[in-house]
Amino acid sequence: METTDFTISQAIAEASRCLLCHDAPCSKNCPAGTNPASFIRSIRFENFTEAAKTIRNANILGGVCSLVCPYSNLCKKECVRQEIDSPVKIGSLQKFAIEHEKKKPGTDTPMHKIP
Ligand code: SF4
Repeated sequence: METTDFTISQAIAEASRCLLCHDAPCSKNCPAGTNPASFIRSIRFENFTEAAKTIRNANILGGVCSLVCPYSNLCKKECVRQEIDSPVKIGSLQKFAIEHEKKKPGTDTPMHKIP
C-alpha cells in the first residue's frame, strides 16, 4: 500500500514521471476502471479538479480506494516507468487528487469523507 502524502509540487513532479503511454497499461489493469493514465495527466498539468472528477466518475469510492487498493498488484504492477527506474506512485497520486479536492472550496463534485 502506498502512503506518500504529496505536496502540490511533489504531486506534479511525480505525475511528470508518467510516460504518457498511448496504450496505458496501468488503466487496463484497474478493476474499478479509475483510469490512472487520465487522472495522472490532469495532475501533471495542474488540473486537480479534473483529476478528482475522473476518479469519482469511475468510482464513487475513489477516496477510500486510494487508501486500501492493492496498487502494487494492479495498475502499479503494469506501469512502464518501472523499466527505467520505478513505477509511478499511482495510489499516492489518487490520494492527493481526492485530498486536494476536499481542501478546494467551490467544487461541484460530491464530497466524501476519507477515514
Ligand atoms: S503505465 Fe505508468 S508511465 Fe504509462 S501511462 Fe500508466 S502511469 Fe504513466
